[in-house]
Amino acid sequence: MKKLVGATHRLGIELNARQVRQFELYYQELIEWNKKFNLTAITDYQEVQLKHFLDSITVILALTKEEMENPDLSIIDIGTGAGFPGIPLKILLGQPRLVLLDSTAKKATFLHHVTQRLELSNVEIVIGRAEEIAHLPLYRQQFDLVVSRAVALLSVLVELALPFCRIGGEFVAQKKGEIRQEIIKANKAIDTLGGKLSQVRKIELEELSGERYLVIIDKICATPEKYPRRPGVPKRRPI
Ligand code: SAH
Repeated sequence: MKKLVGATHRLGIELNARQVRQFELYYQELIEWNKKFNLTAITDYQEVQLKHFLDSITVILALTKEEMENPDLSIIDIGTGAGFPGIPLKILLGQPRLVLLDSTAKKATFLHHVTQRLELSNVEIVIGRAEEIAHLPLYRQQFDLVVSRAVALLSVLVELALPFCRIGGEFVAQKKGEIRQEIIKANKAIDTLGGKLSQVRKIELEELSGERYLVIIDKICATPEKYPRRPGVPKRRPI
């Protein structure tokens, strides 16, 4: 994990021995399970360290020191797939409650296995569509931090993600490439769902190529009951 350790050091984070072991195990399990299930196209040892682990960890650049040290922080990862960015964040932060949400049962099987292998506590894996889970009181407007990577266009994603966010919390979307238009198109949805665009932060790390951003949206008022709409509708007819 030399590449990961070096790059996180430049972010001001020193990974301890346990965390390095957890990332190593995570890599091994990912590669092993990828032989049976299609979890990721990135399998090279160096590339996984940077494009999956480091890239996930950059989400912490959106957090304050108080948030990072708050043991009661709660996080949900929407469309987590093989656990990105949720699991690397959990390895790093240790304490927070983490919910990993994905609609695919096969991915959940892997997530159960890997979170046990890594001995991560306070992690819950939920199989379901965000459009439905977001209406359950246990999850609706319950999270300080909602994260998501590579799931949908921002205009669609805010309808899936902001309902989970408590008022005063934030949604951090990891985005790549040309995002100006995407953000402009999402303005109405952000407003409708009770959000306010707070910051677009460019990630500048020599280890990560391409333009990468964190789009940070504050939750400033309650999401109207009718959102999210039924499964598939946010994507077919973005707000
Ligand atoms: N976040 C991961 C996976 C991205 S692939 C990563 O960056 O590597 C997108 C994932 O989102 C898939 O695993 C898919 O099953 C899930 N997904 C897509 N739409 C969803 C929805 N409406 N509710 C829950 N999960 C969804």
